[in-house]
Amino acid sequence: MSIMLFCEVFDPHVWLDAFKKAAPSVAIEFWPNVKHKGEVELIAVWGKPTFDFGQFSHLKCISSLGAGVDHILANDTIPSDIPITRVVDPGMWQQMSEYVVFAVIEHRRRFFGYLQGQQNKSWIKQSEIDLEDYTIGIMGLGSLGQDAARCLKALGYNVIGWSRTKKDLPGVHSFVGDDEFSEFLSRSNVLICFLPLTDDTRFIMDKALFSKLPKGAYVINVARGQMLVDEDLIEAIDQGHLSGAFLDVFQREPLEPEHPFWTHPKIHMTPHMSSNPVVENAVAQVLENYDRVKKSKLLLHEVKRNQGY
Ligand code: NDP
Repeated sequence: MSIMLFCEVFDPHVWLDAFKKAAPSVAIEFWPNVKHKGEVELIAVWGKPTFDFGQFSHLKCISSLGAGVDHILANDTIPSDIPITRVVDPGMWQQMSEYVVFAVIEHRRRFFGYLQGQQNKSWIKQSEIDLEDYTIGIMGLGSLGQDAARCLKALGYNVIGWSRTKKDLPGVHSFVGDDEFSEFLSRSNVLICFLPLTDDTRFIMDKALFSKLPKGAYVINVARGQMLVDEDLIEAIDQGHLSGAFLDVFQREPLEPEHPFWTHPKIHMTPHMSSNPVVENAVAQVLENYDRVKKSKLLLHEVKRNQGY
């Protein structure tokens, strides 16, 4: 019996070495060089799997090696009774919270303006935004969103959040569902997207959503590029309704060289690096689930396939 590793965009040997170190006795096979497909009980996935899951007759579990599962659920060959799990890791929350705290502080205190100032030997203070006029709206108050909310609250920011179900986070007003979405948006001077990509959230950040944000609002997207309508964002910035954006994820990655985001003066971007997997932690969770599969125990961090996350 074995685990199969599918790794599209990350050095597969990093994963393989970590699996071998953590569980030397477990048989690991690599897609596409799988000798015994009938032995594969768990498939660990990094990247978008395009193969037919039906060829693994003894498959019992599919594990995302990251926090998202949209790339796995996009494959329509997965039998409906196979559970899918994801990684929920404080090591990833910490990186993500650092990233959004940096983006928020940069926006409020204008640090990039000082970089330019230094080049011009200019000793001029930038105009900062008052904390009282500045509410951070976190769209998606799950594991990553909640950690970011805690970090921003600790720095004295006013933080609100929006999710499908009510949350009880000290000092963070929790808005719920479609009925409260407009009010949440109308109060968000900075909108940070931490939603999973599902049928409900695809292209959620469009012209209509931007028009509900206060004038001068700032958008940070660290979730998935397919939730953002790129042209609508550029239009809202160019018309002066939004003050800019900080983006880590894009509809197509790597972003094509001719894309206008690269050169837009009010858009800052990074190459999908806001939170990288902590390989040892991810492997430990997959191995724990492999053990649970064998013992028919409840799995860790199983996604609700009907909800898409
Ligand atoms: P969680 O599943 O823990 O949280 C998702 C949150 O979104 C929940 O609060 C959920 O509400 C809310 N939500 C989902 N659908 C809706 C909806 N239709 N309306 C309102 N709220 C909704 O996910 P994580 O926080 O762990 O991760 C979020 C996403 O971040 C991942 O799916 C992944 O795509 C992305 N990511 C990006 C990384 C990067 O490097 N850029 C790294 C890691 C993750 P409720 O709680 O009520 O269910």
